[in-house]
Amino acid sequence: MLAYRHAFHAGNHADVLKHTALIQILEHLNTKETPYRVVDSHAGAGSYSLSSVAARKKGEHRQGVRAIWQSADAPPAVAAYLAAVRSFNPDGVLRHYPGSPALARHLMRAQDDLRLFELHPTDHRLLQAEFGPARNTQVFQADGFAGLRGQLPPPSRRGLVLIDPAYEGVADYGAVVEAVSEGLKRFAQGTFMVWYPKVHKPQSARLAQRLKAIAPKGWLHASLAVQKVDAQGFGLMGSGVFVFNPPHTLYERLHDTLPWLCAALAQHEGASQLLEQHRV
Ligand code: SAM
Repeated sequence: MLAYRHAFHAGNHADVLKHTALIQILEHLNTKETPYRVVDSHAGAGSYSLSSVAARKKGEHRQGVRAIWQSADAPPAVAAYLAAVRSFNPDGVLRHYPGSPALARHLMRAQDDLRLFELHPTDHRLLQAEFGPARNTQVFQADGFAGLRGQLPPPSRRGLVLIDPAYEGVADYGAVVEAVSEGLKRFAQGTFMVWYPKVHKPQSARLAQRLKAIAPKGWLHASLAVQKVDAQGFGLMGSGVFVFNPPHTLYERLHDTLPWLCAALAQHEGASQLLEQHRV
């Protein structure tokens, strides 16, 4: 089943949370000269036009990046995120939204390498066209859960694995746990970031607990619930990111960020946020 296209969702509240955390992790990796590798197991198309038919269909970016685009009081992590998005929109008009591959490429240095997996043929073609020719970058049309194993550990033993599936079927929840478990065996010191949707499904409610159980060396969990479900209880309430071996700076960087994002992106009065960590 490959019905999901990220073009319909680019820049929504879930992307804001995920990409804000992603940028913080990359900025931390950039504090040392040693090269690192980023593996994006579910890369999407790479970058998106917000005026495309797909992006305009539901206009999810309006309750996401566009809602905070002009903010003057954003906390530092959100300011860093907005600065990165602004670099793809140099005239200040928000037309383009960078996906995780574009943000990663933007922040990574000449010595770092990027590995991108995307199964959907159309999105893979777009990804390959934009990132295939890029320095130190490889694009695969292959299953990212299985493919990431072959990329670990990176030669420098530094890096980030982003696991950001579409969760079209409940099998993705189990596949995430298995992929991280396997990945940590090969690259125990690596940072792994899992994104997940907050939806009315037991698999979604249980995922963070399952991930905590396989995190031997510390974790960070951040989530936002800002959207109302429909009358039938369907829809994306919010999302979370679960980070294994987080940079020691991440909790502090997200501490003021989560309440700010929650207030800025809330679509109802019961919106909530969570930030927790376990350090060993
Ligand atoms: N990481 C992207 C970003 O932040 O810009 C968004 C990725 S989107 C949520 C998930 C993507 O995973 C979709 O483009 C989908 O086609 C792709 N996909 C689904 N199953 C996959 C698999 N087993 N391996 C690789 N890609 C897959």
